[in-house]
Amino acid sequence: MREFSIQTHVFFGENALGRLEEIRNKSVLIVCDKFIVESGVADKIKARLASCQVFVFSDIVPDPPVEVVADGIKCLAECKAEVMIARGGGSAIDAAKAIRELARQMNYVDVDECYAIPTTSGTGSEVTKFSVITNAQEGVKYPLVSQSLQPMVAILDPELVETVPPAITADTGMDALTHALEAYVSTEATDFTDALAEKAATLLFRFLPQAYKDGTDLTAREKVHNAACLAGMAFNTAGLGICHSIAHTIGGKFHISHGRSNALVLPYVMEFNANTDASEKTVCARKYQRMAKLVGLPYANTQTAVNSLIRRIREMENVFGIPDSLKKLDIKVEDVLAVKDDMIQAALADTCTATNPRKADAAAIETILGKVTPL
Ligand code: NAD
Repeated sequence: MREFSIQTHVFFGENALGRLEEIRNKSVLIVCDKFIVESGVADKIKARLASCQVFVFSDIVPDPPVEVVADGIKCLAECKAEVMIARGGGSAIDAAKAIRELARQMNYVDVDECYAIPTTSGTGSEVTKFSVITNAQEGVKYPLVSQSLQPMVAILDPELVETVPPAITADTGMDALTHALEAYVSTEATDFTDALAEKAATLLFRFLPQAYKDGTDLTAREKVHNAACLAGMAFNTAGLGICHSIAHTIGGKFHISHGRSNALVLPYVMEFNANTDASEKTVCARKYQRMAKLVGLPYANTQTAVNSLIRRIREMENVFGIPDSLKKLDIKVEDVLAVKDDMIQAALADTCTATNPRKADAAAIETILGKVTPL
């Protein structure tokens, strides 16, 4: 028996933020980063919560470390909020999810309602059961996984992403595209998740270049924002693959943004997973062929389709200024070699590896790492 459900109630379109006005006479904790406070966005949320007592925890940093989550739990325990609102990119939303979950498990506070308002279009964290927390000392990113981590309400407002600079638009958009493509070929993919992944990928191939080129184009922004959420719904059930496993360890060791790490690894992992040299066409190659057709690329046979899909991704990454190797990101080859074995082990142990369409052993991960880091 298989299962599919979307637990988060999604509000989008004009005045979606108005949903916050339904929160009345509650104590509310807003979790965000300093940017959200300094840009006046936190005040805009407060204005919608006129009858509430509002607290703000604004210490979130990219790739939230364990220590920030611990401080957040302390803050929540002190203010005893009944409602949490996570506002920001995946880092703020993930941290808020972990703070709420751990505070509940430790019997400090049981938050009734949890809202997620993404201000980047990438992670889909607003609808997922995942929260990625970083152990900075060990250089490891840990995905926490639990149904109870899922926000109850997600609010999608494309105006909130208008201020995202082009480089972050590109990185986060490529994260969303990776979610769609990995969920699409995952061993747990179903008709339900395929529908979401196909829509997300087609929107991203079409609108991400425009959102990158002109961040004020609200139509492109809206399509990319919706696509990121759809991709989140897809991988929430289907899972991901080794592109994410390798990207997690690259992010943990070298502090490269999550989206950029995924973008860097994605073409090499697609090549590996499609396995077009195999004696029989793989399911993965056939699905890439279908995806190539959907997005209007050559798809006459699986080899042509896989090549055209990978070429299209590389073309987009060229336009976005995303390099194709760690070396071009100023990471020294010797620094990668020094931690290579740890990285391979971390990638193999990552939860995303279990749903990769092609079995990946240490040698396979090492080969892909070698392509990402040519000597
Ligand atoms: P982020 O949240 O780290 O934000 C990146 C930068 O963008 C920050 O400096 C932030 O201040 C800035 N920013 C955010 N919104 C902005 C806006 N509207 N205008 C201008 N600047 C803005 O980046 P992200 O890619 O959204 O999240 C990455 C994190 O999410 C990583 O830790 C990653 O591992 C995690 N992640 C989680 C899931 C999940 O399902 N929970 C999935 C993928 C990734």
